[in-house]
Amino acid sequence: MITFESWNDAQAQIPDFPADSETKGALETLRWAYETYDEKLVYACSFGIEGIVLIDLIAQIKPDAEIVFLDTNYHFKETYDIIDKVKARYPKLNIRMQQPDLTIEEQAAQFEPDLFKTNPNKCCEIRKIIPLQKALAPSTAWISGLRREQSESRANTNYLNLDKRFEKVKVCPLIHWTWKEVWRYVTKHELDYNVLHDQGYPSIGCAPCTKPAFSIDDVRSGRWSGSGKTECGLHTT
Ligand code: SF4
Repeated sequence: MITFESWNDAQAQIPDFPADSETKGALETLRWAYETYDEKLVYACSFGIEGIVLIDLIAQIKPDAEIVFLDTNYHFKETYDIIDKVKARYPKLNIRMQQPDLTIEEQAAQFEPDLFKTNPNKCCEIRKIIPLQKALAPSTAWISGLRREQSESRANTNYLNLDKRFEKVKVCPLIHWTWKEVWRYVTKHELDYNVLHDQGYPSIGCAPCTKPAFSIDDVRSGRWSGSGKTECGLHTT
């Protein structure tokens, strides 16, 4: 078993994933990761369009894989609807809803109502970062659907990354996929997806912090729009 502590050894053992494979290395990366980390590998899925692709690929390799969704209690109804559809399509998958320690009401009482407006970083810490930390605690590695073209801050992402924030190995099988390729896969395999994608939302997070994108060239432009915030903190150190 390759552990976080032996990251250098892991680096040495990473196979050369073929960028010209049918899935641009995604299936090969996932196969390697599950063979290497097995039960110590968890997929933290937001059930956006990349998540729909990854779940379909993961189900081909490990039908009973563990998948965790950070249920901030602020998600759109359409997001919960797609989770139900995915559960029905892949009944063997172990999909867990990770809850924050505080309900929305408790958070409002301890801090202030609508903390997402006044201090979105604190809100994300309580409702996303700490819950992910707890969800990942038993694991050595986690999977993420990051793609290089999504944003400047994601442009240097590799198939395997040393995640210093969570002290895990972060596996990113879709780094080379383009937006068009993601949609081509979903269409070809007739996969269900969040209907908000058809209503101008390329990237979907919590309802209070997600608007339709104003630019097709920046798929994350609808997230925390106008606040200067671009990431929830899950992918920053
Ligand atoms: S995305 Fe918005 S509502 Fe969701 S946890 Fe972060 S600040 Fe809170």
